[in-house]
Amino acid sequence: MLTVSQVLDQLRTDDSFMRNVTEWHVEPPKPAVYADFPDSVPALLRESLNKRGVHKLYCHQAEVFSAVQRGENVTVVTPTASGKTLCYNLPILARTIAEPEARALYLFPTKALSQDQMLELHGVIEDLKLEINTFTFDGDTPAEIRRKVRKAGHIVVTNPDMLHTGILPHHTKWIKLFENLKFVVIDEIHTYRGVFGSHLANVIRRLDRICRFYGSTPQFICCSATIRNPKELAENVTGRPMTLVDKNGAPSGEKHFVFYNPPVINSQLGIRKSSLKEAGRIAQRFITNKVQTIVFAPYRLMVELLLIYLKRDCQGARVEGYRGGYLPNERRAIERGLKSGEITAVVATNALELGIDIGTLDVSIITGYPGTVASTRQQAGRAGRKGGVSVSIMVASSSAINQYVVNNPDYFFGSPSEMGIVDPNNFVILTSHLKCAAFELPFQKNEKFGVETTEEILEYLQTKGILRLSGDRWHWSSEIYPATEVSLRSASPENFVILNTSDNNRVIGEVDYFAAPMLIHPEAIYIHLGNQFQVMELDWQGKKAYVKEDKVDYYTDAETKADLRVLEIIQVEGALSWGEVSITNVTVLFKKIKFDTHENVGSGKLALPEIEMHTTSFWYEFEPEVGEQLGFGHENLGASLRGLANVLGIVTPLWLMCDPRDIRSISQVKSSFTEKPTIYIYESAPGGVGYAQKLFRIAPEIFAAAGRLIKECPCESGCPSCVGPEIEVGADGKKNVQKMLERALAGMAAKAV
Ligand SMILES: [Zn+2]
Repeated sequence: MLTVSQVLDQLRTDDSFMRNVTEWHVEPPKPAVYADFPDSVPALLRESLNKRGVHKLYCHQAEVFSAVQRGENVTVVTPTASGKTLCYNLPILARTIAEPEARALYLFPTKALSQDQMLELHGVIEDLKLEINTFTFDGDTPAEIRRKVRKAGHIVVTNPDMLHTGILPHHTKWIKLFENLKFVVIDEIHTYRGVFGSHLANVIRRLDRICRFYGSTPQFICCSATIRNPKELAENVTGRPMTLVDKNGAPSGEKHFVFYNPPVINSQLGIRKSSLKEAGRIAQRFITNKVQTIVFAPYRLMVELLLIYLKRDCQGARVEGYRGGYLPNERRAIERGLKSGEITAVVATNALELGIDIGTLDVSIITGYPGTVASTRQQAGRAGRKGGVSVSIMVASSSAINQYVVNNPDYFFGSPSEMGIVDPNNFVILTSHLKCAAFELPFQKNEKFGVETTEEILEYLQTKGILRLSGDRWHWSSEIYPATEVSLRSASPENFVILNTSDNNRVIGEVDYFAAPMLIHPEAIYIHLGNQFQVMELDWQGKKAYVKEDKVDYYTDAETKADLRVLEIIQVEGALSWGEVSITNVTVLFKKIKFDTHENVGSGKLALPEIEMHTTSFWYEFEPEVGEQLGFGHENLGASLRGLANVLGIVTPLWLMCDPRDIRSISQVKSSFTEKPTIYIYESAPGGVGYAQKLFRIAPEIFAAAGRLIKECPCESGCPSCVGPEIEVGADGKKNVQKMLERALAGMAAKAV
């Protein structure tokens, strides 16, 4: 049996492995940076922590404590396993000891996570032997417990959806909480971005109104993974100035991070060897040596295939799956097996990265880039025992984003590029919450809800019969109960509901009205928490999609014909602009694309209604003669512009931290608005959530990244991993797009001087 370090040595001298390694990054062990307990930590609390082995604080924990004591709102940036929970539990417990009436609200993005963290908190409180009650309040909380939580819960743990539908509209039952609310904790704040984050910002505005009504002004403590703008994101979500704590004092062992790019087997199509099989082969080298390993895969089908391979190839070691749908006792059995060493490896879907409670292992193998640096780091963080050597290996797939990340290690290891972006003033989102807020408490004349135009919106709602002005207050006058109509995960008031016919038509999710034709058209593969479903029927009138559980080795990608019209310019700078646009979309066909190799394995025609949407867009215009100027002629301009739109569409999500489906790009050889060759990158959410504006500001970075992606792509004249296939962009497509990028970048640099 070899140790982790010995397996690593073996890999390092293995040519067949090393020739596919694009980066081998070693993070040296880091000693802890401690700080003494601040004097204001109550002795009782200190003793309780001492008993649990905490004799000193890490410097970031002490720093958060002091800032909270000064009355500041704090955002702390913490990597995995760095004593994050104590950052907020310490000041909050200290306050609760001094002031038994004090209350705190904890918001976690997922249920599973809050369960884990509850256990830790319960431990500390038990040792304190004080009457401090913590409760989880979510959809599963039984009615009799709910009453208790409302009256006696010092710390209420919940999620944004529950705060939105279960707590704020019933604030009169939560008087104790709102009168005494001292702290709001928002964990994993980097997950609240785009539409979801814009909703949360408005839920917080509603929370603020209710707190003002009951006379409390809570302080906020937010925790974020490493992103480029943690302070800005937290300020936008909470509407408060934040103190940033980003020096981490937690120790870590030596950590190896390897980027592995499977070899090319078809250079024309840009197809590489299967990342699934390569990940399995690499995992096997550790597992057969009884080195504890977790393997992540993006879909449940991949998890199952990996399990079959690893069980077959790793005789003598126990390998288990760890998926959604497992019962708590099955999970506990796996966790126990890992702790005792009886189980050597687990295979899990990416969707579970947050909820997994298995402590830390020696090795984590990540099959395919999980989409953001933050979630990759979270998965990698599953490997890393204090003191010992640990390894994370990311095995890239053929997809364009994977290829960019694996070939540009600086994007990942350098200073963070990802930005959390929200727009709390998105009209659709803001208006939905204004309705909820009016239902909760009448609006006073001149009262502001985040925007100066609050009164105009209230007047508009009055004309719709939703509000009624009486004296100087706006009252709710509709029969419907607004919060249940608003989903925090969507920017459109009319959602499609997805019903699983394999499970008594249970609702498994919702999809935006505007996204429905793309995501849940007939025969689409809908992926939910790593599980695949096939759409059997789309009931357009009834806003329902009927799906069945399915296991196929492909996903679907719908193709839409979009027509874009500029409605209003908001800002212009040289060739760059952003503003409001109208998009008319019709989804005409879908392609079946094989997981992993991204080969096109079939397609189908669709007949769906045309829909119009207003949103925001970024655009870049070229001179009308750009084709001639760059030497490829006007006849090749259309194909080259399309190639440029394709590659910009690929790299943009890496910076804006959004799902690739959250933005779309199109090109027009002669735009009716600019009358020039123009590239548009527009937002998929109605009204937009701030991506277009951000893109306008960081365009040079995005254009430069697009240039790098094309340069590093091994294809000759274009492939789906860069500018698009040759038939779409022409034989010189790749070269032409590069020329256009250089031209655009030179223009932007000249402007910046
Ligand atoms: Zn290529």
